[in-house]
Amino acid sequence: MTSLTVAKFGGTSVADYAAMLRCAQIIKNNPDNKLVVVSASAGVTNYLVRLSQANVPESEQREIIESIANIQFNITQYLTEQTIIDREISVLLDELAAYASANALNHSARISDAILSFGEQMSSRIFAMVLRSIGVPGQYFDVRQVMKTNDLYGQAVVNIEKLQQNATTILAPQLSTNVLVTQGFIGQNDAEYTTTLGRGGSDYSAALLAEALNADNLAIWTDVVGIFTTDPRITDQARSIKEISFGEAAEMATFGAKILHPATLIPAMRKNIPVFVGSSKEPEKGGTRIQQSVASKPTYRSIALRREQTLVTVKSPAMLHASGFLAKVFTVLAKHELSVDLITTSEISVAMTFDNPTGSTQALLNSTVVEELEQLCEVTVEHGLSLVAVVGNNIHKTNGVGTDIFDALSGVNVRMICQGASEHNLCFLVDEQQANLAVEQLHTSLFNVA
Ligand code: ADP
Ligand code: ASP
Ligand code: MG
Repeated sequence: MTSLTVAKFGGTSVADYAAMLRCAQIIKNNPDNKLVVVSASAGVTNYLVRLSQANVPESEQREIIESIANIQFNITQYLTEQTIIDREISVLLDELAAYASANALNHSARISDAILSFGEQMSSRIFAMVLRSIGVPGQYFDVRQVMKTNDLYGQAVVNIEKLQQNATTILAPQLSTNVLVTQGFIGQNDAEYTTTLGRGGSDYSAALLAEALNADNLAIWTDVVGIFTTDPRITDQARSIKEISFGEAAEMATFGAKILHPATLIPAMRKNIPVFVGSSKEPEKGGTRIQQSVASKPTYRSIALRREQTLVTVKSPAMLHASGFLAKVFTVLAKHELSVDLITTSEISVAMTFDNPTGSTQALLNSTVVEELEQLCEVTVEHGLSLVAVVGNNIHKTNGVGTDIFDALSGVNVRMICQGASEHNLCFLVDEQQANLAVEQLHTSLFNVA
C-alpha cells in the first residue's frame, strides 16, 4: 500500500527559483509526496495586504503590482516553458489590477480577500511548472474546489465536512497519477467568492488537507531546521528539538511561536497524523517530529513569545464576597466579541489580557467597551506588553518550577502571571522592551546554556 505525505512550503521556501528548485527536489526524492501546498512567494502577501486596503492611490497600485510581477518573473525566467507560464501569470496580474482598482473605488472585505489570494494562485502555478521541469508530474490544483468556508472574509472558517467530501470525490482520485500543487491560505464561500483563512494560514490549510485525505504524514518545510527551544531570531542559543508531543507543540503555536499557525495541529491531532517540520534549505539536517506520544517529557521544552498584548484590569470593591460581578464583565466583552486570553483575579480586581494583532483590539478597547465597563467598575488599560510562555510538561505539578523561572527573571518587571490551568505552560506578561531580555535570560537558565 502506498503512503501519502502532504508537503507544505512556506514563503521563503518558494521565494526565488533556487529555493523552488530545492523544494522540487525534496518532492522528487520521496514518492510519498503527492500533494504540495504552497504559500505565496516571500513578500508577495505583504504587498497584497497593502493593495487590499482602502484608498490606495493608482500610482501605488501600479508600483505594487510591478514589484509582485518582478518577484514572479524573476522565477519564471529560468523555466524552459517560460512563455506559457508568463502568459498565465500575466493574466492573473491583469485580474489583480482590476480588483485593485475596484477596491480603491469601493473597498470591501470581499474584494480584499480576492486580492490577498493572488500570491498563492501565482506561486502554485509556478511551482507545478518547476516540478515538471525536473521530471515530476506536477499539476496545478485550485484548492477553492474543495476548501469551502463561511463568509468571514479574512478569517474564514472551513467547513470540515464539505472539505472531507470534496477531498474524497475530487482530490483523491487525481493523486494516483499526478503530484498536485495547490494553494494554502485561501478558500471559497457558498457564493463562490474567494476567502482567506488568516495570515500564516497555509500551515493550517495543509493540515486540513492532510486530515481530509487521511494522509500518513504532514511535512511543513520552512526556513529553520525544525521547532527550536525558542525563536532563533531572539537568541542564537536556541536549538532544534528532535521530537515533541502534539500537546506541547500546539501550546507553543498558540502562545505565538510563529513557526506554526496556531490551528495547524488541531486537524493533525484529530486524525493522529505525525507532523514533520524542517528546513527546505537544509533538508539533510532533519528537523522536528511532532506526534502523539514522545519518549521524553521534559519539564521545560521551549519558550514562546507573543507581542502586542493588552492588559485590562477591572476593579470594584463591590466584588468582595459578591457573586455575579464577573458575569457582568464578560457580558460586556461578549457583546463586543472580545476574546479574553489570560485572566487572574484578586479579591476586588480582575486582570485580563487580549491579543492585539494589527491594533484591532486596541481600537475596540479604547472606545465603547471601556465606557460600558466603567459603568460597573474602575478600568485600567495597558498596551505595549508581551506574553512569554514557558512550555513543557507537568509544569503544574513539578517542585521548584517557580524558583527556576523567577530566578531567571531578575531585572524584568513581571506584570501578570498565569499558572495552573494547563499542565503544559506557565506564562507571564512583561513590558515589550524587556521581552527579548526575559526570553534570553530564561533560555540560558532553563536550558543550561553555558
Ligand atoms: P513560513 O514562511 O515557512 O511559514 P514563518 O516565517 O511563518 O515561515 O515561520 C518560520 C519562522 O518562525 C522562523 O524563521 C523563526 O524565526 C520563527 N520562529 C518562532 N518561534 C520559533 C521556534 N520556537 N522554532 C523555530 N522557529 C521559530
Ligand atoms: N501567504 C500567507 C501569508 O503570508 C499565508 C502563509 O504564508 O501561510 O500570511
Ligand atoms: Mg508561516
